[in-house]
Amino acid sequence: MRIERTLTIIKPDAMAAGHAGDIIKVFEANQFKIVFARLVNLSKKEAEGFYAVHRGKGFFESLTSFMSSGSALVMVLEGENVIARLREVMGATNPANAAPGTIRKLYAASIERNAVHGSDAPETAAFEIGYFFPGIALV
Ligand code: ATP
Ligand code: MG
Repeated sequence: MRIERTLTIIKPDAMAAGHAGDIIKVFEANQFKIVFARLVNLSKKEAEGFYAVHRGKGFFESLTSFMSSGSALVMVLEGENVIARLREVMGATNPANAAPGTIRKLYAASIERNAVHGSDAPETAAFEIGYFFPGIALV
């Protein structure tokens, strides 16, 4: 199995609710190694750039306002097959549909305020890691 890197964000809702430690515990329990981290408070423009693939969708304005509403913890995680494994551990986008024990089932409030972000494919991981950590190795 290939060692990969992926980008995760503990979103402003989970930071404000005091769930950052709980979520990091889940990462550690799954042997996802934190190799880079930044505490950020995104501007609206930075949130729009990060979620540019969603520009034009009905939730874009609200999503980017939410993502720029408070501090967020951005991390690069490394591990075997970590891109897909993080997505599994996160659970479905809408916490109402998330499997028991997943981060979103445990800590998310709504489809928008859903606690955590994870890159969904190697190409998006490359873009997203570069967005926050320009110049670092992707593997
Ligand atoms: P993320 O990209 O944050 O890891 P995801 O890949 O599960 O989440 P996407 O479809 O990429 O989901 O949507 C990006 C984010 O936009 C979601 O995590 C959520 O915060 C928000 N979002 C998605 N769909 C909706 C919706 N229908 N209504 C409100 N917000 C939404
Ligand atoms: Mg996504």
